[in-house]
Amino acid sequence: MRIGIIGAGQLGQMLGFAARDLNVECRFLDPSISPPARVCGDVVQRPFDDAKALAELAASCDVITYEFENVPVGALQGIDGTVPIYPPVDALRQAQDRLDEKRLFERLDIPLPAYRAIDTREDMIAAAEALGLPMVVKTRRLGYDGKGQFVVRTTADIDKAWGTLGREALIAEQWVPFDFEVSSIGVRNIDGDVRIYALSHNVHEGGILQSSRSPIDAPELAGKAAEYVRRMLDHLDYVGVLALELFVKGDNLLANEFAPRVHNSGHWTIEGAATSQFENHLRAIMNLPLGSTANRGHAGMINLIGEIPAAVRTLAAGHLHDYGKAPRPGRKLGHITVVTDTADDRDALLDLIHTNVT
Ligand code: AMP
Repeated sequence: MRIGIIGAGQLGQMLGFAARDLNVECRFLDPSISPPARVCGDVVQRPFDDAKALAELAASCDVITYEFENVPVGALQGIDGTVPIYPPVDALRQAQDRLDEKRLFERLDIPLPAYRAIDTREDMIAAAEALGLPMVVKTRRLGYDGKGQFVVRTTADIDKAWGTLGREALIAEQWVPFDFEVSSIGVRNIDGDVRIYALSHNVHEGGILQSSRSPIDAPELAGKAAEYVRRMLDHLDYVGVLALELFVKGDNLLANEFAPRVHNSGHWTIEGAATSQFENHLRAIMNLPLGSTANRGHAGMINLIGEIPAAVRTLAAGHLHDYGKAPRPGRKLGHITVVTDTADDRDALLDLIHTNVT
């Protein structure tokens, strides 16, 4: 069995490590020089939309998957049908466009913040009137980690937002004064079996995930989120791991976005769950029985962004994952996971690590 993975970043690397334990070979496609997953298998160093390289990858692998959601859909369609591609290309297509994504949530009765599609400056003014301020303007396509977003706080910001983002198709969302953010990660295999991980509580700064902890003491929220993920997995006839990010306000959940791939907020599953999201993604796309998603304890994860401080390497607590990437401001270079017997111990340990990281 050989799996072709489009993208050889840290998610590809962690898929590669899980594949090694299953005695499965991986081959990657990525134009970067020396990407993190190079330690896990061959990397074909070609652009993601290189039709010849994709065709060769498809011909030399039993199944194709991907580790980031901006894979060009057109390029994948070129090999669809010649080899199984999971998650399905149609799920990827819907995740790439925030408007399609929101319409999918609506169709599935998954609550979401009020929004408007914006094509003109007049649409933006009308959206501000309808949604109220502040509102968040986002590009429909190719946004990640808070990029391609503008918070419109006053009517004077409308021109600034239009000047910054107006060349692209946009949406505006009501500003959600959420209590906190969560993600629910589920997995479905080719036979349609579904497993859902415990809910993660996630903290973002500047649009970038800083930390996750799981489980959280909120069984009703967890039940609702799991039901939404299950609905998405079944509706999309999905195969693989899917992550749904949600805002929590009181007892309510509002869907923000979904990722058709393994997800940063599930990194804790490597040490903190019986079967990691990476292994379960591989199991799903190979149609093996899914592994248990039960927690092994109280897990927490801190992202190492911009640099890996020397102090972190000498910490006795926690499991360090160094992706082998060159330092750069805002770049995810690694993460640390802790697993403890109690939530209090976990939170204390995360605080201790956090003070060494910042
Ligand atoms: P996104 O790229 O849509 O996941 O947004 C990145 C982060 O920006 C989210 O995780 C939130 O912390 C924040 N954010 C995005 N949309 C909203 C919103 N409508 N209201 C409040 N905060 C938001």
